[in-house]
Amino acid sequence: MSRKAVFLDKDGTLIENHPFNRSPEHIEWLPGTIEGLRLLHHAGYTLIVVSNQGGVAPERFAVEDLLREELGLRAELAKFQVPLMGYYCWPHHPEGTVPSFNVDCSCRKPNPGLLIQAADELHVDLTNSWMIGDILHDVAAGRAAGCRTITHERQ
Ligand SMILES: [Mg+2]
Repeated sequence: MSRKAVFLDKDGTLIENHPFNRSPEHIEWLPGTIEGLRLLHHAGYTLIVVSNQGGVAPERFAVEDLLREELGLRAELAKFQVPLMGYYCWPHHPEGTVPSFNVDCSCRKPNPGLLIQAADELHVDLTNSWMIGDILHDVAAGRAAGCRTITHERQ
């Protein structure tokens, strides 16, 4: 059976966007985020983070930093019994300096590849799902994947 999901951008949507700082000590949740995620979880939505992390390719931070940040986010949400079913951070960027990450691919938002991969791996019904993000790239990726979308403008 397919799940309904909410795909979530991370930086500027769940947490404050601190460019190139992926230390878990600097995670700063945006107001109302954890309560909102808890409500979506209880409404039956599977929660999946989908995040471009183009700072890996130009060596502004490392893949290990992303993993440490993921563990920090998951640990905080676990305190509120909010599970993240999936966590997809995409390190490719066409203008990087690390050859293995210096790639122009279909996964980087606004392309829908990451959402489609997550939906395939986690058995998500995209037409019954939402993408929430803070910029139009998030909306474009969600629409291209067949989801409904929400974006917000920060005050
Ligand atoms: Mg964002």
